[in-house]
Amino acid sequence: MRITFLGATGTVTGSRYMLEGGRGRLLIDCGLFQGLKNLRLRNWAPFPVPVEKLDAVLLTHAHLDHTGYLPRLLREGFKGPVFGTAPTLDLLKIMLPDSAKLMEEEAYHARKHGYSKHKKPQPLYTVKDVERCYRRFSPLEWNRQTKIPGGFQAELHRAGHILGASTATISSGKQRITFSGDLGRMNDPLLPNPDPPPASDYLVVESTYGNRVHPPVDPMAQLQKHILAVHLRGGKLIIPAFAVGRAQFILHCLNELRKSKRIPDMPVFVDSPMASKVSELYARYSNEHCLDKQSCERVFAGAHFVDDREESERLMIRPGPCIILSASGMATGGRVLGHIQSCAGDPRNMILFTGFQAAGTRGADLVAGNKSIKMHGEYVEIKCEVAQMENASAHADAPAMIDWLRKLSAKPKRVFVTHGEPEAADALRRRIVDELGFDAMVPEFGQKIDLE
Ligand SMILES: [Zn+2]
Repeated sequence: MRITFLGATGTVTGSRYMLEGGRGRLLIDCGLFQGLKNLRLRNWAPFPVPVEKLDAVLLTHAHLDHTGYLPRLLREGFKGPVFGTAPTLDLLKIMLPDSAKLMEEEAYHARKHGYSKHKKPQPLYTVKDVERCYRRFSPLEWNRQTKIPGGFQAELHRAGHILGASTATISSGKQRITFSGDLGRMNDPLLPNPDPPPASDYLVVESTYGNRVHPPVDPMAQLQKHILAVHLRGGKLIIPAFAVGRAQFILHCLNELRKSKRIPDMPVFVDSPMASKVSELYARYSNEHCLDKQSCERVFAGAHFVDDREESERLMIRPGPCIILSASGMATGGRVLGHIQSCAGDPRNMILFTGFQAAGTRGADLVAGNKSIKMHGEYVEIKCEVAQMENASAHADAPAMIDWLRKLSAKPKRVFVTHGEPEAADALRRRIVDELGFDAMVPEFGQKIDLE
């Protein structure tokens, strides 16, 4: 087998790895590059290998940095099947159209206001391109070796992280390689623990938190503290949350806090159409997470899901106390902007961020204490409190990655460290070498390596 690193090198986005076996080619993950402009431009470059020579695509989980390039791959001429777990493929039917819609809107605005260098700005793909993907979807079962085109065998194990997330072990001939995908955390209140890695000759592991240790704080206790403070002053608590995973995690925490009477009764609203649809999927796939059907129903029944825009606008002028969850999680867009705008001027209110805030986003500016934020073309003065939950990440930290690798029954020939900023990837590589005695390397963009 031979592996080519087509993304997630020197960055956390654009996960794409090509495996070449004796009889064909398989693409593991098909992610979008996000964040800095020089990375985003890679989405527009021709795919580095002729796409018609790919026999199949296998997706570890639904996040767009692992899947968001798929509609473009089809547009470029990919003709094969797309494998993943059933919940992953169902999540994509919610997330990919949303991604396409945003791209179409952006192209429309760029055309209208002429701020693009291109004469006719085009979206990377459209909702129509997305719909063409669905008939290629082919769900795989957990823990079962399955033959896939190109002469490969694939086996998926649980990765935690988000609903349906998997690690993928691929064999061809006598070689076995395991991709960690994005690895979740042990003892997550909502998601199953990651399964130990199966014996493998090679591994490709993520390093998002490769140089960090999660602080030992209880997210539930943090949430309780902020809710009590806001309730006492009769304010509104605005929680920007990623629609997939984070929103459901917060709803679960709220339900637990309410059940144990650690917080007073106050209305909870979810103002994100995508979060509503994803929550429905959680209820449908109750065997894929830690809540049974009844608890799942209770968790989601505890909140009022806002669907239409008018109701959302009424909610913006509703007085506190209340809790409003809305997307996007880094306040880069979405309905949460309207809520931040309308609550920012009142010191009784609070904006509580729940996850990692990437550089250059409004979320990062707010968390850094910026008192004037540009939204919808005007500056908004921030008088309300801004806070961030410190320990709500959906990724394993460095010690947890080492513990996971330690569970291998035999020493692998080599570990490839990807999906991290350069410092994080190198820090994890060093720990793997020093603490586990495995051979490890950080591959470069486009690098091809023979797996002997
Ligand atoms: Zn992910």
